[in-house]
Amino acid sequence: MRRRRNQMDTNKLSKFYKKTHAEKISALKEAGVISLEEATVLTEDGLDLDPSVGEHMIENYIGNYSLPLGISTNFVIDDNEVLVPMAIEEPSVIAAASFAAKIIGSAGGFTTAVSDRLMIGQVTLKNVKDMEQAAQNIKAAEHNILERANEAHPSIVKRGGGAKALETRILEADPEENIPAFLVVHLHIDTQEAMGANIVNTMMEGIAPYIEELTGGKALLRILSNYATECLATATCTIPAHKLKTGDYTGEAVRDRIIEASQVALADPYRAVTHNKGIMNGVDAVVVASGNDWRAIEAGVHAYAARSGQYRALSKWQKNDQGDLVGTLTLPLAIGTVGGSISIHPGAKLAHKLMMYPDAKRLESILVSVGLAQNFGAVRALVTDGIQKGHMGLHARSLAISAGAKGEHVELIAEQLKKAPHMNLQTAKELLNNL
Ligand code: NDP
Repeated sequence: MRRRRNQMDTNKLSKFYKKTHAEKISALKEAGVISLEEATVLTEDGLDLDPSVGEHMIENYIGNYSLPLGISTNFVIDDNEVLVPMAIEEPSVIAAASFAAKIIGSAGGFTTAVSDRLMIGQVTLKNVKDMEQAAQNIKAAEHNILERANEAHPSIVKRGGGAKALETRILEADPEENIPAFLVVHLHIDTQEAMGANIVNTMMEGIAPYIEELTGGKALLRILSNYATECLATATCTIPAHKLKTGDYTGEAVRDRIIEASQVALADPYRAVTHNKGIMNGVDAVVVASGNDWRAIEAGVHAYAARSGQYRALSKWQKNDQGDLVGTLTLPLAIGTVGGSISIHPGAKLAHKLMMYPDAKRLESILVSVGLAQNFGAVRALVTDGIQKGHMGLHARSLAISAGAKGEHVELIAEQLKKAPHMNLQTAKELLNNL
């Protein structure tokens, strides 16, 4: 398979996880991923927001709250290698993603498909006397409504986007719950490279008076829906069974156990939530690093997991005719590469550079692939060694740091903690005192 390397010399990044912090920064510079200036920022000052910027981003600003930023390696997505920046406080997520991406990359990597990026805006109307007639009036005025929406935000139309389609939904009354009927008007809006909340909200506020006129109802809510069902990304990967062999387990046994675990997560909401949390470990970390709104993504993804009426696993693992393990994941991913804090936050700016400035569709491909890798890594570990073996090693490091260990003492105390009968903060403190 031919892989485009995006002018990045990945050989310089081999065994990245074994390098010290300074060596990692220098390897990124030598690989042509970051500039000398960015290397200096990473080594000396970090990526914190300037207070003069922070105080304009949120209200009552008092300082910055840092998260560690790391890089997942080994990702090959649609034949392109990519470094994946992740902002996350949880140990083992980046290691698991890189490990999973290595196995999947050796089998051809991830293939993705991204739908048109249409955001949904809602005007929700109350007190509509004749729902059917109102819905007909809306449909008849579709062209005018779309035009008015676009007049409310003309710059997105100039960029090639804008309101494209309309639909109505009648929410029937539920007397048992004392809920009256509502009429909802949906606009499907192409927001180009933006996540689009502000664009959509402006449009919905712009058309609400006209919608009221057409329906005789009163507009109660005028805002985008975070249930982004018109903005979907799918990743698939195919792994030959022999690549799954580990310890005493044959590759076929690991494959079948992963498939069974996937079936459990489709059937049992209690398992599905944890299964999906594992997927979102990776997705959220990239959403945060890229300066996107992770609450929006979280809300949409979990609603999508419950679209059948039962909360289910977002991913599916199956066997193909050749006996390979095939994984699929589809997520609604209303992210952007412009807007919000993306061009303001120094960490977000660096993250986009690390990913070679993906457009919004490519960023979706990266996110959904990371989710599938994370899921594979977690389920593979669960059905073989269990995840505690890897986790506790990393947890030991966190305990060592909490106890006050610094520099090389962190690894030393972590190693001793792993052998101690009780791995906790008290033991870490005692070990540090004895050092
Ligand atoms: P912004 O309003 O910050 O940015 C979008 C603007 O970027 C566009 O209106 C456009 O303005 C400009 N732009 C420049 N280049 C492009 C391009 N190639 N494609 C599209 N637009 C471009 O952000 P969004 O509208 O994306 O809204 C996202 C923000 O809204 C996030 O911070 C989110 O947290 C927040 N939010 C989320 C809500 C929710 O999820 N429910 C609710 C409310 C806010 P122009 O064309 O005029 O230059």
